[in-house]
Amino acid sequence: MQEKLNELKMRLAEIADLSHASAVLSWDQQTYMPPGGAAARGQQMSTLRRIAHEKFTDDAIGKLLEDLSSYADSLPYDSDDASLIRVTKRDYEKSRKVPASLVAEIAQASAQAFQSWQKAKPANQFADFAPFLQKNLDLRKRVADCLGWTDRIYDPLLDQFEPEMTTAQVEAMFAGVRKEIVPLGHAIAEKANAVDDKFLHQKFEDAKQWALGVEAVKLMGYSFERGRQDRAPHPFTTTFARDDVRITTRVLPKFFNAAFFATMHEGGHALYNLGTPPEFERTPLAGGASLGVHESQSRMWENLIGRSRAFWKFYMPHAKKVFPRQLQGVGAEKMYRAVNRVQPSLIRVEADEVTYNLHIMLRFEMENALLEDRVAVNDLPDAWNAKMREYLGVTPPNDTQGVLQDIHWSYGTFGYFPTYALGNFLAAQLMEKIRADIPDLDARIERGDLKTLLEWLRAHIHVHGRKFTMNELAHKITGESLQTRSFVAYLKNKFGEIYGV
Ligand code: ZN
Repeated sequence: MQEKLNELKMRLAEIADLSHASAVLSWDQQTYMPPGGAAARGQQMSTLRRIAHEKFTDDAIGKLLEDLSSYADSLPYDSDDASLIRVTKRDYEKSRKVPASLVAEIAQASAQAFQSWQKAKPANQFADFAPFLQKNLDLRKRVADCLGWTDRIYDPLLDQFEPEMTTAQVEAMFAGVRKEIVPLGHAIAEKANAVDDKFLHQKFEDAKQWALGVEAVKLMGYSFERGRQDRAPHPFTTTFARDDVRITTRVLPKFFNAAFFATMHEGGHALYNLGTPPEFERTPLAGGASLGVHESQSRMWENLIGRSRAFWKFYMPHAKKVFPRQLQGVGAEKMYRAVNRVQPSLIRVEADEVTYNLHIMLRFEMENALLEDRVAVNDLPDAWNAKMREYLGVTPPNDTQGVLQDIHWSYGTFGYFPTYALGNFLAAQLMEKIRADIPDLDARIERGDLKTLLEWLRAHIHVHGRKFTMNELAHKITGESLQTRSFVAYLKNKFGEIYGV
């Protein structure tokens, strides 16, 4: 049995190498590559991905998994070997269900749709993008049919990003949260002037913003021996190995928040992958449990820590040393309130913690409506704008700031958006347990001790890699599946106090 397990691991290690090599190419494409390299880079990446896909869907892998299944059954569910076999089998079965020809068709269609979106967005021409979106949608419907579904066509698509989470579960959670945060948002809107963040919108020197962000991620425990930070238009984190996890950021010259909190956010993603146990290296168990669990880590560092009172009590003197003129007369309390200003806005990535999830709910509903033919692609802008009015009380003046704002649908990615909100919910649920385990967490943060939190995350979350689904992990750590009670309580508590509502 050991021999078969070794052979499986050897094959999986090669596949991991190929996908990490492809990640290097993609990182370079988004950071340093000159525009002239685009066409060749596309071919190189697609070749590497094709070889990795062929190797992974090879009959030999299926045979090994079959031969190892009784061995896996004889082990505890959470043991390394049983988990490796279980998770690989889950990935393998999904990969085998979608024919290579459909994968290739999707790659081509999404490349074309992305090009169209890149032009249609600034030009405010949804009609130009619509046929490509329709094509992406039709292809995803075929993928859903290949993967199989009974209840909702959205289920298999969501499952690709959040294994074993169902559309019905997400719908129920979203409905519960919406009932609470829409009135909270309205109450805050009536006291909009209670928080002043004007001083955050002025010139902050680029190099200094960069340096302050670097100082923050170092404080979080991010090591530049095992990573680096580069510039990218859309910040992301990428992993080449457990000792080489890189982050990117972008600096807006006239707004403090953008670079600082994006850096903490990506730092949170990076710490998760840096916390992968060494024995998972080059196996499918390396990395995070799911997109939602990953987002719970990035959002915890960005919002529950980075936008906390305790953090600014410690960090304000550092920020003032770097920006003495811009932050003159601004104390920790004023900073805390300013970075938490609530403002219903048109753009998801700029949204505050209260309104952010409403942006996600809107996209989730639109995706379901499109896939279930309840809304036609051509009617999407009107449907989008109506929902924006209903949930956020704002109407996009054009499609550039409305339905065309996100990149996801141009890639044909449906089922991804909910993971952002699920990550927010999980972060709050985990934080309740963290506070129970570390009662003096705030006092520690006020002293600049973020290490204790990182150690907790390593021991309870990072150590498991991809072994468990989001609900399994939530259950294991907090004694119950993912719930939204903690998140709603967190929002009401924090913003109720800031705005006096
Ligand atoms: Zn993220």
